Amino acid sequence: VQVEVVPQTGSTNADLLARAGALAQPLLLVAEHQTAGRGRAGRSWLSAPGHSLTFSLAWKFESGPQALSGLPLAVGVALAETLGRLGVQVQLKWPNDLLKDGDKLAGILIETAAAPGPGIWAVIGVGLNLVMPDELEREIGRAVSAVPWLARMDRDELMAALLDGLAAMLRQFERTGFATFAARWNLLHAYQGDTVRILDRGAVLHEGVAAGVDDTGRLLLDTGERRIAIAAGDVSLRLK
Ligand code: ATP
Repeated sequence: VQVEVVPQTGSTNADLLARAGALAQPLLLVAEHQTAGRGRAGRSWLSAPGHSLTFSLAWKFESGPQALSGLPLAVGVALAETLGRLGVQVQLKWPNDLLKDGDKLAGILIETAAAPGPGIWAVIGVGLNLVMPDELEREIGRAVSAVPWLARMDRDELMAALLDGLAAMLRQFERTGFATFAARWNLLHAYQGDTVRILDRGAVLHEGVAAGVDDTGRLLLDTGERRIAIAAGDVSLRLK
């Protein structure tokens, strides 16, 4: 994987999406600071200079977008397992967040771009809080987590460990899809057995007991009457 580090950019995902058509091999773009970080559905990801790890990895898949279902969850598994090996215990919130002590530590945003010829580029964006200044937390408007301990670790070493974990996961994902990650995701599930709500732009779509994910990455919810499976789309999950 080729690696580029820039001191500052708007959004590493936006940069790689713009360059995807001209990429010949996987590329990791690390920004020391992002000024217009993105979340899902037009939301933003905020970070302070030097206080977070923000990067995107462009990876080419030979098959179409359906084959990518569950990829954000598999990315979560790879990041969580790598952080676990570094001594930071995190849990996964469906579909695309890493939590530490119950609050959001990292977010994952996957976007796709057409490749010339067959296949598709997946741009996997990650924002991970290292240090969270009070002022920034106020701006975000909810409690969030950070790992100052990781901020003291060599930045290149931390990035290399995360990249190794992601590359190993991606090679496996290419062969098996999400199916071989479901059990690992469920072991890391933050809300297993908890009552949660699924929201679509603030409106409650479903409420039930979270029972993990299936082989395609859909969240299983026991509503009392039946078990339903929810695809990620743009919905949000909240603890009740
Ligand atoms: P939600 O958490 O509302 O269900 P989501 O998990 O899909 O949505 P994303 O769209 O992935 O969230 O990320 C954007 C959201 O993350 C923002 O709306 C904001 O609440 C939160 N956020 C922004 N910056 C940070 C940060 N540095 N650390 C933790 N959370 C952040």
